[in-house]
Parts: sequence; structure tokens; C-alpha cells
Amino acid sequence: GQTIGILGGGQLGRMMALAGRAMGYRFVVLDPAPDSPAAQVADAQVEADYSDVKAARQLAKEADIITYEFENVDAQVASILSDEAYMPQGSHLLFITQHRIREKQTMEKAGVPVAKWRAVFTFNDLKTVFQESGQRGILKTTRGGYDGKGQWRIVPESRLEDIWNECQPYLRVHGQDEAGPLIYEWLVPFVREISVIVTRGVQGEQSLFPVIENHHQNGILYMSIVPARIPEEAVRLAQQAAVKIADQLQLVGTLAVEMFLTESGEVLVNELAPRPHNSGHLTIEACATSQFEQHIRAICGLPLAENRLLTPAVMVNVLGQHLHPLLEQIDRLPRNVKLHLYGKREPKVHRKMGHLTCLGDIDTALQFIGSSKIWATDSER
Ligand code: ATP
Ligand code: MG
Ligand code: MG
Repeated sequence: GQTIGILGGGQLGRMMALAGRAMGYRFVVLDPAPDSPAAQVADAQVEADYSDVKAARQLAKEADIITYEFENVDAQVASILSDEAYMPQGSHLLFITQHRIREKQTMEKAGVPVAKWRAVFTFNDLKTVFQESGQRGILKTTRGGYDGKGQWRIVPESRLEDIWNECQPYLRVHGQDEAGPLIYEWLVPFVREISVIVTRGVQGEQSLFPVIENHHQNGILYMSIVPARIPEEAVRLAQQAAVKIADQLQLVGTLAVEMFLTESGEVLVNELAPRPHNSGHLTIEACATSQFEQHIRAICGLPLAENRLLTPAVMVNVLGQHLHPLLEQIDRLPRNVKLHLYGKREPKVHRKMGHLTCLGDIDTALQFIGSSKIWATDSER
């Protein structure tokens, strides 16, 4: 059998390996933690930092096919992996999705609508765009942000000096000596957040997963619902945008496209994730083929499988603070609830420990989630 190397040992890598092992592939994982979620289910591990060049060479040597489970792959490591091994997704996809401005420009080139935005290099830029945008927007670091980290919501009352000071350390953490650029986006008054997960094979064939509806809490994905409860025209626009982006990027593998649906029925693309996505975890049970299996098929050059929706479903994340109440009632979960835990030892607050997928009627699932003690301690939803 062939060996697939995964850069990164988190839950996405774990679920990729679980799907791929069922098809007979071997897995080797590069991650600094000896007991990472993916390493627990892999055949072998290269225990090293993600930016360790020697370790990347070793992964390249041990694997026939390379993939990654996060987008912030060090540029030098990405070039080693694509030169010295077979990384069908290529390093261009990483180059684009690692940087919010390059990503926005790619989406515009694909002819897909996005929120109005400006690059911000200086404090003066920020003051100007603050006025231009009607004093409402979101300032984001161009690199390294996730779960709402590295972004600042701007409202008319915002003190721009304080925000400017707060974002400086983030810029340096992510490997830039000079300030900027940041990206300032006009605030989109959305009525729904949705995602489209698309897989594209080496021959350019595409498969789309049904549109998923997403709900966030404290900047972190809280719950996803399939099928998204949106008008048919919005489904069409969302899928069309995903197809255009996948073609523009000459995608190989699975890509998640996060979008906003506005009151007037417009669909704007927010951001891309060049990999399986948290909102797609419900495809494991709700679709004929999961996002993880489809990703493995794409990078291995297998035909993409039929992935139609089998049942409505609601996925809810189990964060660190939810783990204890979950374990207390684990023997009393409804029979339509599927349990996934990632094997992480320390249940830190807001750390993704696992997820539950409730199959069947959406309103019944929402009622279970709303009345359950598991998520009761979360203040704002
Ligand atoms: P992820 O964890 O999905 O990678 P992230 O930290 O990269 O998230 P974004 O997806 O860009 O950040 O933003 C996080 C959330 O903030 C969005 O899901 C949305 O709720 C809100 N948001 C981001 N940009 C905008 C915008 N321009 N207008 C309105 N809301 C926005
Ligand atoms: Mg993101
Ligand atoms: Mg996002």
C-alpha cells in the first residue's frame, strides 16, 4: 500500500487518517507532540516542529503522497515537500490562502463577490478607511489568524489608537518585522453564515458537498447545520462561487469556502481553508462520502465518490469546558447522536476536544442542544 504523509497532527489529520486507513493507506504524521490526535491513529510519526527542515525531508522520504492539515505551513518546508515529494495540492494553494490579501485578490480574479476591503499599512490608513467604511468594519492580520484571533471589530466608538497598539505584537509573532499590512474589511450585515466544501481531483473533476449553515460563538465555530436553511437561489450562488474559486486555484484536494448571505440575497465569500473544515465534520455521517475520504481520494488520484446528503444533521463542537458535562451524561445521549473525541489530554477552555453530530430532524437536534447541560455554561451564543 501507499503511504500518505500529513503535515500536522491535529483532529483534521486524525480524521483524514481514519478515512484513509479504511481504504488501505498507511499514514505518517509530522507533529512535535508524541501523542497528537493524528499520531494516535497513524502508522508512524516524525516528531518535530512544523518548520523543521530536516524533519520535512524525512517526511518526504517516508511518504509517497504528502498533504497538510493546516494552511500556515512554513514557506521553506512547503517548497521542500513539493520538490522532494509528491504534494498534489501544490504549494501555490498555501501561498494564496496563507495571506488574506492574496486570497481576496484571487477570489476577485475568479469573479466572486467579497466584502469591500483595503490594505492597511499605517495608522493613517486605518483612520482613513475607518471614515470611508462608515466606521464599521473588521481589522484582521493578513497571516496566522484563526478562531477569530488576530482580528478587531471596529465600531463608531472604537479607540483606533488602542486597537493599533494591540495589533502590533500579532504582526511580529507572524514573522514580520515591519508593521503591516493588515486588512480592513467593511462589516457585512449578514443574515446567515454558510460554507461550501468542494473537492477537485487531479483531472479537474469537482464534487460539491451540500451547503452548510454555521453559527459561531466567541469567534469559534459552535454549530453547523446541513442542509443550510437558505433560499434555493442562495444555494445556487454559493455553489457557483465555490466552483469558480476551485477552478481559479486549479485546486487538488478539499477546500472549504466560508461565505456570508445578506438580507438582499447576495452571497459574499469570507475566507478559504485549503483543507477539510470543522463545518464539514457532519459529512462523516450525513453524506454518502465524507470530506475526509473525498480529500484522500483526490490527492491519491482515485475517482471522487458520490457524496449526496443522506440525512439532515446538526454538528456541535465539544470544547474543553464542555468535556466534563459531556462525559457525565455520555450513557444518556439520544440514539441519533454520534460521538467523536480527538484523544486530546488537556481539556483547556475553548480547545476543540471533539464534536457531536445529531442525525435526523434539525429542530429536534436544536432542541436537544439547547436544553442540554453540556453547552449550558457558555454565556453568549
Ligand atoms: P476561522 O476559525 O474560521 O479560520 P478566522 O479567525 O480566520 O476564522 P474569519 O473567518 O475571517 O476569521 O472571521 C471570523 C468570524 O468573524 C466570521 O465567521 C464572521 O462571523 C465574522 N466576520 C469576519 N469578517 C467579517 C466581515 N467582513 N463582516 C462581518 N463579519 C465578519
Ligand atoms: Mg480562517
Ligand atoms: Mg473563518
